[in-house]
Amino acid sequence: MFKKITSAAALCACAVVFMGTSYAQDVWRIGTEATFAPFEFMEQGSGEPTGYDIDIIKAIAKEEGYKVEVINMPFDGLIPAMLTSQIDAAIAGITITPERAKKVDFSEPYYNSGLSTIILASNQDKYKKVSDLSSSRICVQIGTTSAKSAQEISGKVGAFNTVPEAFMELKTHGCEAVMNDRPVNLYFLSKMDSNDYVELPEILDGQQYGIAVGKGNPEMLKAINSGLKKIRENGTFTEIHKKWFKVAE
Ligand code: GLN
Repeated sequence: MFKKITSAAALCACAVVFMGTSYAQDVWRIGTEATFAPFEFMEQGSGEPTGYDIDIIKAIAKEEGYKVEVINMPFDGLIPAMLTSQIDAAIAGITITPERAKKVDFSEPYYNSGLSTIILASNQDKYKKVSDLSSSRICVQIGTTSAKSAQEISGKVGAFNTVPEAFMELKTHGCEAVMNDRPVNLYFLSKMDSNDYVELPEILDGQQYGIAVGKGNPEMLKAINSGLKKIRENGTFTEIHKKWFKVAE
């Protein structure tokens, strides 16, 4: 009997140690890649991640009674970080794809997106449509759906850790185009105080963003979908959309 109690106590101590190195159950560790405005970017001043996605996940967590810790990391590190349980989930304008769905679970879609291509205005006569770039260098962010599309269009792809770096390469004529998610391209164009860039008219793909959740965590996936449904119903989702995109969804 005494022995039984001792081992139970040992087990209990072990659990306490484990909790100490892990996170409290009511905190969701959410990965993001904060150079993807307006979805996620570092707020000037506070240095904290902000943006549409950050507001969405915080609103969902609040509905479900959880706190959020946002962890910034490279885009191509998000799925590996979920696979190794360093984060519980990720929100980063992540397109739901069948390949990714083999490694992580996705929430219900929360944003309809697509890809577009930006070129230098000075090259407007040369590149009128995406297929005109078939032998040109296209810059993208590593590990993205744009990286895949650019590979199909032209063998020559410049892959960068972040979208701003890809744009810098375009500016310095290191590549002929940047292929990227359209809302991020439009935000970039709206923030640029110049007419140096233009978007090609074709939108490449219908893509939907989902919140990725590490596999084997059905409770969290369920809570995220439930919170998403609630914020759609109570108007918070629309408010967040208006805040970042000026229009309701
Ligand atoms: N939506 C694109 C993808 O999932 C790009 C996301 C991003 O760069 N943050 O690949």
